[in-house]
Amino acid sequence: YERMRNKLIKTADNFKEKIENVMYMGSFDDDFFDELEETLILSDLGAHTSVKVTEALRTKIIETRSKSKEEVVGFLKEILIEMVAIETKEMQNPTIILVVGVNGVGKTTTIAKLSERYKKQGKKVIIAAADTFRAAAVEQLDEWAKRVGVDIIKSSTGADPSSVVYDAIGAAKARKADILICDTAGRLHNKVNLMNELQKISKTISREGGDFTIHNLIVLDATTGQNAINQAKVFHECVEISGIVLTKLDGTAKGGIAISIIDEMQIPIEYVGIGEKSEDLIDFDPKKFVDLLFE
Ligand code: GDP
Repeated sequence: YERMRNKLIKTADNFKEKIENVMYMGSFDDDFFDELEETLILSDLGAHTSVKVTEALRTKIIETRSKSKEEVVGFLKEILIEMVAIETKEMQNPTIILVVGVNGVGKTTTIAKLSERYKKQGKKVIIAAADTFRAAAVEQLDEWAKRVGVDIIKSSTGADPSSVVYDAIGAAKARKADILICDTAGRLHNKVNLMNELQKISKTISREGGDFTIHNLIVLDATTGQNAINQAKVFHECVEISGIVLTKLDGTAKGGIAISIIDEMQIPIEYVGIGEKSEDLIDFDPKKFVDLLFE
């Protein structure tokens, strides 16, 4: 967790400093709550979540009649922890992970990171290169697969992504794979096509998946702030998202977005990306994350 602390330093410092400034106001009146709400918005918690947190804190202060800064900071921390503590399901064997997300968020890198992680756990991993629209995406994934040492199923550029997934499921069954990770296209400017394509892939997985548990994972880029939530909503309408990977938490001050994403989507963040290397993926621990913000 030291690694996470170092990488999250910008978000943590940003948050801590802002909260300390609000606490300097001394009395817990309407001005304080207005200022707190504004501060939470500035910390990338989004308007909706910021109002919710502020109102919860107001209720708590009224109930307890607390006038102590330390106590109020403690309440705030408790409220945030409760908000993000959604339980993640343990990975089943075998599982098909469908990875969705907009181009550039770090989907390819995340697939490499996940492959390495599961491989290290002794699992047999296969990757399906179903972003057949971008030749470069298939090449990049191919390189990662070689580097990490896992099998990859691919097809020629322009092939039907569902047929790549179909073939990959066949291979996963035949080779007794534990985890099949399917890459998908993410060109959001052609939204209708993209969504149709994803639904078709998703249907193929449901129909052909057999004993495999299905896990639909979305990759979101922390540096895009509230945009990440809009992306999650668009994809969630198309395939039922069951988990989130939040990338690029290293070097951004916008990590507060994690709280907003969980609150608005009610879907757990399972992993966070903290760098470009294949080992730069860590489990997301909601409580530790909030603790870091206040340390
Ligand atoms: P894709 O288009 O969604 O497949 O995105 P890529 O996996 O190609 O990643 C886009 C860029 O983001 C690349 O330069 C990656 O090295 C970088 N990237 C991905 N994840 C992270 C991360 O967690 N932290 C940082 N700093 N960069 C990342």
